[in-house]
Amino acid sequence: MAETRDEPKAKTLSIAMLRHEPIQDARVCLTPSDVAKLTQAGHTIRVPAAPSSDPAFSADAYSNAGALVTASDDELLEATILVTLHPPAPETAGKLTPNHTLLGFLSPFERAEAIAELADRGTTAVALELVPRTTIAQSMDALSSQASLAGYAAVMLAAARLPKAFPMMSTAAGTIRPAKVLVLGAGVAGLQAIATAQRLGARVTGFDVRSAAAEQVRSLGAKFAPVPNAEAEDAETAGGYAKEASDDQLARQREHLKALAATSDIVITTAQVFAKAAPTLMTLDMIDAMQPGSVIIDAAAATGGNVERTEGDSAEERTRNGVTIIADPILPARVAHDASQVLSANIVALLDRITNPQTATIKQAGEDDIADAVTVTRSGSITDGRIAARTGTRNEGASS
Ligand code: NAD
Repeated sequence: MAETRDEPKAKTLSIAMLRHEPIQDARVCLTPSDVAKLTQAGHTIRVPAAPSSDPAFSADAYSNAGALVTASDDELLEATILVTLHPPAPETAGKLTPNHTLLGFLSPFERAEAIAELADRGTTAVALELVPRTTIAQSMDALSSQASLAGYAAVMLAAARLPKAFPMMSTAAGTIRPAKVLVLGAGVAGLQAIATAQRLGARVTGFDVRSAAAEQVRSLGAKFAPVPNAEAEDAETAGGYAKEASDDQLARQREHLKALAATSDIVITTAQVFAKAAPTLMTLDMIDAMQPGSVIIDAAAATGGNVERTEGDSAEERTRNGVTIIADPILPARVAHDASQVLSANIVALLDRITNPQTATIKQAGEDDIADAVTVTRSGSITDGRIAARTGTRNEGASS
């Protein structure tokens, strides 16, 4: 569009991709091809010297895309918008200023105190976890894009560990029966896990507390395990998330699932409750009822996990009575290349929506509903009441 006297020239953004060592995660927030589009539009992008172990995301690839490859963290912090896959290390967080906007997966509910510290530093914080689940925000929904790849990766991981084949095979020496897969939680990750296991020829059963999930599970060709006493409970919030189940509901659920789990070769758990710890769906007695050689993938590990642990049982992978249990909090990192493509597209779409082109900063309160939803600190305050409530005292300016 031609510039007129009334339209001030758009400012360019200064963006840096933060390093997130020592976490082993080859994903990147911005791919070289998206960086090329951003630099061609005049924006400045800084990336660390070793952006990723994926050769497609090498320093050379970024340099060719017009990014500044920087040798030190301090040079990265010369940018004003810092994008990150994981909450920054305390050393980096301690260097943030009111000129910075930190945008990424910040675990705002689990790490409310770290959010409060960002507010104290005057830094603007934008949490990808809070992108609204609306049609208009779908292109920015990084939680969904990563959950989808997590569901796929969970099945691949389970298949690699199971000493059985997924599909039924008729051979001259007899028939091999299909593997039985049980998926607990049929949201974005669970539905992708169900679809993937179905494609591989397994016999799949899905379970979820939300009644809307039943139709979605069946439409993928899988069975749905009916929810106990479903008619008495409305298990879904207005936003489409599951309500937190009571202890009594969870006990009934586990009783209901125990026999199904015992006859499954693979159990993939993906159940989460927004802003809360994940519910425990697989107890030790349920694991003990499974056949040796079976595999459990706890895809809800990032929010506490769905599989009960014994004290001191913190390893990502463990065995109990011959059952392999893997609780990987960053499953999408196992398909880092594709996870990065969609994450980068989400972040570019979000930045486009929530930045003010005249000021090159995040839009102010009340200017944009999506910017308001994702911004958790602004001008020294926590702006999300749910996060502020977890910090006890610092709730000035917050709305719930
Ligand atoms: P999530 O990650 O919060 O939870 C995963 C699944 O666990 C959910 O289906 C939830 O119902 C289930 N769950 C919670 N407690 C459970 C329990 N005790 N037992 C069994 N299952 C339990 O959810 P999500 O995958 O992010 O998706 C939540 C909803 O949002 C879904 O309805 C999804 O279709 C919808 N969604 C909509 C949009 C959009 O409209 N743009 C985008 C993404 C997701």
